[in-house]
Amino acid sequence: MRVVFFSAKPYDKKFFQELNQTYGYELYFLDVPLHADTAVLARGYDAVCIFVNDEANKAVIQQLADFNVQLLALRSAGYNHVDLAAAQQYSLPVVRVPAYSPYSVAEHTLALVLTLNRKTHRAYNRVREGNFSLTGLMGFDLHGKTVGLIGLGKIGFATARIFKGLGCRVLGYDVVKQPECEEIGLEFTDLATLYTQSDIISLHCPLTPDTYHLITDSSIAQMKRGVMLINTSRGALIDTPAVIEALKHEHIGYLGLDVYEEEGDLFFEDLSDKVIQDDVFTRLLAFPNVLITGHQAFFTQNAMHNIAEVTLQNITAFAQKEPLKNALF
Ligand code: NAD
Repeated sequence: MRVVFFSAKPYDKKFFQELNQTYGYELYFLDVPLHADTAVLARGYDAVCIFVNDEANKAVIQQLADFNVQLLALRSAGYNHVDLAAAQQYSLPVVRVPAYSPYSVAEHTLALVLTLNRKTHRAYNRVREGNFSLTGLMGFDLHGKTVGLIGLGKIGFATARIFKGLGCRVLGYDVVKQPECEEIGLEFTDLATLYTQSDIISLHCPLTPDTYHLITDSSIAQMKRGVMLINTSRGALIDTPAVIEALKHEHIGYLGLDVYEEEGDLFFEDLSDKVIQDDVFTRLLAFPNVLITGHQAFFTQNAMHNIAEVTLQNITAFAQKEPLKNALF
């Protein structure tokens, strides 16, 4: 199998090349993202391997099928960037890595909550400059606070366990009621209750037509004043201008983001010498109570190892004509 990787970074290359010593595929790494103008680079390959900000829309899938690409392998769990109907239409199987480490994302969620609350980023800089003043660094005890989780899948549950361990009351909402809720003391509830009672709200559902802009004026209006909102899931779950208004009026007290609706033009690249043209993003950066990380919640050694391993297993299953257990249709 000849496999071409789009949006490949040095760390992708390292993990895949190490593991590929036991698989022996021909792997080619391109740092450009996949989109309509770059799809031509897939010509001559059997499989195309992509990440979260590559665009596998209908036009791209049609091109891949024309080049006789036989497999689209996602290095991610989320697949909102792939037109599955088009892939089905062009008989291009799509495989993903459904669970590479829910702990990586759940633990990053905790990192965002703790940093926003205890302001360790500000303390770090102050102390290095010899400023030991505590003014402006006051936080609150997480113990006893109510945390609301939207989406109770693998990551939602890993996050619930962490906050239960900290002594929080944990509320959860999902379109499917998960039987394990009671086992870990998670209160399954409706969205309205979760919005009105939570001190911290964290999003762990996928981006679908139903969850697009789930957080907007009407949902924010139901939340407690001063609420902490965390999104490590997908940027478009949040209507960013609505959140900016709520930050300006101090209805949202803290915002922690690992994802952003227009992140495709920004994240995973070093733009430190460039002028950022996205005024919505730069407005977010101007708030002292907003913390943004660049889609790094998944980025642990364990997760990277598992992504490489499961992707190579997916390719092997395809090459050996075995059932594709991680296929999306
Ligand atoms: P999962 O499939 O195990 O769980 C998702 C849960 O969301 C399911 O229980 C599903 O029923 C629920 N859900 C679906 N629609 C919903 C809705 N309208 N309202 C409430 N709940 C709904 O997925 P997971 O592994 O827990 O991952 C969750 C999401 O995290 C992924 O879809 C992806 O977008 C995101 N993610 C982000 C990173 C990162 O690095 N930031 C890494 C991995 C995953």
